[in-house]
Amino acid sequence: MTSVEKNQTYSVTIDDLSHEGLGVAHINGYPLFIENALPEEEMTIKAVKVGKKFGYGKVLERTSANPERQEVKDSALLRSGIAPLSHMTYDYQLRFKQQQIEKVLKNIAKLPKLPVAPTIGMEKPFAYRNKAQIPVQKVDNQLTTGFYRKNSHVLLPIEDYFIQDPKIDQAIVAVRNILQRFNVKAYNERENTGFIRHIVIRRGHYSHEMMVILVTRAERFFKGNEIAEMIKAELPEVVSVIQNINPEKTNVIMGREEKVLFGKATINDTLLGKTYRISPQSFYQVNTKQTEVLYQTAIDFAELDSEDVVVDAYCGIGTIGLSFAEKVKHVYGVEIVPQAIEDAKANAQANGIKNANYEIGKAEKIMSRWAREGIEPTVIFVDPPRKGLDEKFIEASAAVNPEKIIYISCNPATLARDLRRYEDLGYHAVKVQPVDLFPQTYHVESVTLLVKAV
Ligand code: SAH
Repeated sequence: MTSVEKNQTYSVTIDDLSHEGLGVAHINGYPLFIENALPEEEMTIKAVKVGKKFGYGKVLERTSANPERQEVKDSALLRSGIAPLSHMTYDYQLRFKQQQIEKVLKNIAKLPKLPVAPTIGMEKPFAYRNKAQIPVQKVDNQLTTGFYRKNSHVLLPIEDYFIQDPKIDQAIVAVRNILQRFNVKAYNERENTGFIRHIVIRRGHYSHEMMVILVTRAERFFKGNEIAEMIKAELPEVVSVIQNINPEKTNVIMGREEKVLFGKATINDTLLGKTYRISPQSFYQVNTKQTEVLYQTAIDFAELDSEDVVVDAYCGIGTIGLSFAEKVKHVYGVEIVPQAIEDAKANAQANGIKNANYEIGKAEKIMSRWAREGIEPTVIFVDPPRKGLDEKFIEASAAVNPEKIIYISCNPATLARDLRRYEDLGYHAVKVQPVDLFPQTYHVESVTLLVKAV
């Protein structure tokens, strides 16, 4: 039993950081997680939530400051979880991310000697996001845009999102005001009534092409085309306005059905000199500049040549494989989202690439099929979502005997778990390079090189 009681105040010293960047203080061994608190800082806190194994505290008064503390531009950035590390200097954030990987390599992968290079950061670690997904609610009778308070659906009105492309911030306000002028009703989550649920905006970092997606509860959109025309008139960069229909009572943002209200069904952007078309439902990395650094790091690790047969697993719209396709013999891509595979095929063609094949499906299934069909990849790139690789994928990929596996990860915990499995199957991790794709947030992206042990 813990001696910590809810609503009591305590004097504590922060002794650690959680993987979400929360300060951790221990009271008789009982951990409390505290927002906006850094190691070594002393403070008075109030216990606001007390569970069996851990609790949450709130700072009442801080009496000392870690020298790596930095002033937070707007407290909503911490409260909303938009920029949960924005109270740390950027150098400190980069070291924090490197250490997160070191920690799991030691504790989960049991690979304490695997070197983790210093995180490659951005020169200007803000205003980088090329995509925004903004909830719309009625607050004081006004259509309001912002971000949910952490762990809730209470909307904090925000206009400067700090980490988003400022052109996107401006567009959100413009679109919201147009919807307000046309008297469009905000969605009501509790009752599953009303109309406009989310405004989703993508802007090509290099192309400056903008896509506005209006996520609506119902299909019938009164004056939808007029609204789309107005959006185009006020925001000349807009080349595509899409209505996405999501009738379900769900936290999933987009529904399945879509209509083009204005312009094209896709936008284009450029990565490492190649042009890509991007559909509304396709994954596309949100930090374009750092994605180029990430891909280049992965490509350098692979040391590709003209004899290489490459698998690009979890390929999205094909961006990794197409970046180097002309330098290798063949690229095989697999991805689960059909729209993304349509994009990948179109992207191969638009870039004049003829030696790339794409399959829709689960990577673990298709990889096993390729193995049965006798495809012999020399290098396999994997870039899975947060849950990491399926055991079947790991087995099938090791069974085809590639020389190298390049593992791009957005979750150190599953990376570590998977590196352990690969190690047991004879694939040895050689080096890890973190690349900061998400400054001011706790997300940790990295590239790992694995080679077949001899
Ligand atoms: N490599 C791409 C996409 C990486 S994100 C890029 O750099 O842009 C991970 C991708 O994996 C997403 O496109 C997601 O749709 C896809 N995905 C998720 N689960 C999958 C599975 N089981 N098999 C294949 N693809 C999957």
